[in-house]
Amino acid sequence: MAKIFCVANQKGGVGKTTTTVNLAAGLAVHKQRVLLVDLDPQGNATMGSGVDKRSLDNTVYQVLVGISDIPSAVVPAGSGGYDVLGANRELAGAEIELVAIAQRETRLRSALQAVEANYDFILIDCPPSLSLLTLNGLCAAHGVVIPMQCEYFALEGLTDLVNTIKRVHAGLNPELKIIGLLRVMFDPRMTLQQQVSDQLESHFGDKVFKTIIPRNVRLAEAPSYGTPGVVYDRTARGAIAYVAFGAEMVERVQNL
Ligand code: ATP
Ligand code: MG
Repeated sequence: MAKIFCVANQKGGVGKTTTTVNLAAGLAVHKQRVLLVDLDPQGNATMGSGVDKRSLDNTVYQVLVGISDIPSAVVPAGSGGYDVLGANRELAGAEIELVAIAQRETRLRSALQAVEANYDFILIDCPPSLSLLTLNGLCAAHGVVIPMQCEYFALEGLTDLVNTIKRVHAGLNPELKIIGLLRVMFDPRMTLQQQVSDQLESHFGDKVFKTIIPRNVRLAEAPSYGTPGVVYDRTARGAIAYVAFGAEMVERVQNL
């Protein structure tokens, strides 16, 4: 049965999509069967996986509103060796349409049951908000991976996310836990980043992943080629870090 993880942080541009796409490809390197679910109407994880979001007949939107099931909507990533349940701007409408639908927070969880046995990992790329879409992700998941930059304001906002996770845990999904904080876009030459990183370790202990993702331009270039950084240049420092993170995740799930 798949372990299901949300990559979430309501702050925009912190590296959620880069983490979801490259963790998917990194896990595939370790021979894991992975489904990436794009839960963001921006569709960046879809495009970054080499799937044209405009060409899809069925996406996570059709799944959430009940027009499609997941097996009919899943497509293989262009490269990277994993599957994709894509998203495009249609998904923005789901927020409003779901309000009228019963059990609107658990639509994704119910739909995923049909494919859980086919994968080792299901990774959900959340949008930069604590919306009904993110709530669907949190209700479907066993755990949350929180990418964050080691900046002064990084911890602001973390409180809101942690409180949301606690509420979901208490009311809707007792399995949900924080798997870990992932330091991304890290530049060791910046003293402040090193300080914030040390603070995170002393404050959150082993909830901070050992792997640190460096700032690496190859990771930023890869999406324009429709391929994960891990595949685009597997010798780049960023790619090596995400493959190492894949190994760390495989190890962590054994202790869940
Ligand atoms: P959003 O909140 O809009 O969904 P996000 O949290 O998914 O954003 P990304 O899209 O992954 O964030 O990253 C934001 C930008 O930072 C992108 O241009 C991406 O290419 C770049 N980026 C992410 N991680 C790295 C890294 N380790 N090194 C260099 N650039 C990075
Ligand atoms: Mg994103």
